[in-house]
Amino acid sequence: MDDVVIVGGGIIGAATAYFLSKEGRKVKVVERDPTYKKASFPLSLGGFRRQFFQKENIHLGKFAREFIINLPETLKTEKNPNPTASMVPNGYLLLFGPEHAEEQYKALKNHAECEAGTKNVKGSEISKIFPYINNEGIETATYTDTKIEGWIDPYLLHNALKNKAIEFGAEFIKGDIKSLKEINASTIVSAAGCWTNELLNDIPVFPQKHTVFRVKCPKHYPDMPLTGDLTTGVYWRPEGKEYLAGSPISKWDAEDLEPEWNDFEELVWPALAKRIPEFEQLKLTGGWAGYYDCNKLDNNAVVGKHPSYKNVYLATGFTGRGLMQAPGIGRALTELITTGSYQTIDISCFAVERVLKKEQRLEPYVL
Ligand SMILES: Cc1cc2nc3c(=O)[nH]c(=O)nc-3n(C[C@H](O)[C@H](O)[C@H](O)COP(=O)(O)OP(=O)(O)OC[C@H]3O[C@@H](n4cnc5c(N)ncnc54)[C@H](O)[C@@H]3O)c2cc1C
Repeated sequence: MDDVVIVGGGIIGAATAYFLSKEGRKVKVVERDPTYKKASFPLSLGGFRRQFFQKENIHLGKFAREFIINLPETLKTEKNPNPTASMVPNGYLLLFGPEHAEEQYKALKNHAECEAGTKNVKGSEISKIFPYINNEGIETATYTDTKIEGWIDPYLLHNALKNKAIEFGAEFIKGDIKSLKEINASTIVSAAGCWTNELLNDIPVFPQKHTVFRVKCPKHYPDMPLTGDLTTGVYWRPEGKEYLAGSPISKWDAEDLEPEWNDFEELVWPALAKRIPEFEQLKLTGGWAGYYDCNKLDNNAVVGKHPSYKNVYLATGFTGRGLMQAPGIGRALTELITTGSYQTIDISCFAVERVLKKEQRLEPYVL
């Protein structure tokens, strides 16, 4: 019998394998596509932030930054003595119209209680800090400018976690698990991302297709934060000498990962040009689409022990934030599995029972 089998070797599987094997557990990770062609993490924007409504998400975002900063030391291996996640700490800027302002003022109280280090500015004053932004329709904005939020290269984080887990004794093998009954192990962790429902059909997490466009603009702002315009749902950030911009429209039951090209002309470009007039001169240079592991109940994570099994744990439903939450979730699951309770960040609010009872706990800031 195996000690621990993790189904899915994506970012959550790799982070969990790292923390569990560091604690001396003998971990086997089963991944059906080791090229990760359709997995969510390589197709993500790599963003990490602490600007959320719920305190648990704020704390997980804070831990992500701490983990990324310490990564060169904690994840170095004999084979790779200098790991990096290529952090770009440009911060986040979230723009809210009048319809979201009240909710954001409540969120700011949570930010303060969690010492998130975020700053708030009235819409009318935003151009003093971000002169290229047109503040029309913006009531309030929240941002960080102290290198505590930003983005990373998702591949590099995944590689570093996986390599360190392997150094600690974990095994990554190719395999397609059709049913959890196939596995003979003391502990099973389902880290199957947006495909979780195929293994656990009472968990309402499904693939939701999101498109990202790559664009070029004569005017480049390399210091621009990852900006989310909550008045349109469009978000963007610099990428090298270009920019990436996400469509506000998502799609269920998508048969393929062909980008939704029409969204660019109809939605994304107009929204970008309205907010940053220089973006009127954009040129589309590429794009891709990937699946969010979307929790249809409330856009929030589902993490913990499944009450219907004696040895099955799961972590999924991150709905656009699984990359940044992976270090905190890997650590939390390891605490739960090895000690029976959470020791650092208490994430019992994400318990499987909540979802089975259909108790919503909405996280409003999905980008
Ligand atoms: C366009 C886009 C932008 C995003 N931007 C961000 C962002 O800026 N910041 C952020 O934090 N998050 C972002 N995300 C979300 C993030 O990528 C996901 O939440 C995260 O990758 C989920 O991690 P995971 O390991 O659960 O799933 P995945 O990365 O999808 O990994 C799951 C793995 O499980 C394997 N698997 C599934 N079923 C089985 C089975 N039965 N047997 C064997 N293997 C199996 C799959 O092949 C896959 O490799 C974004 C996602 C997309 C698509």
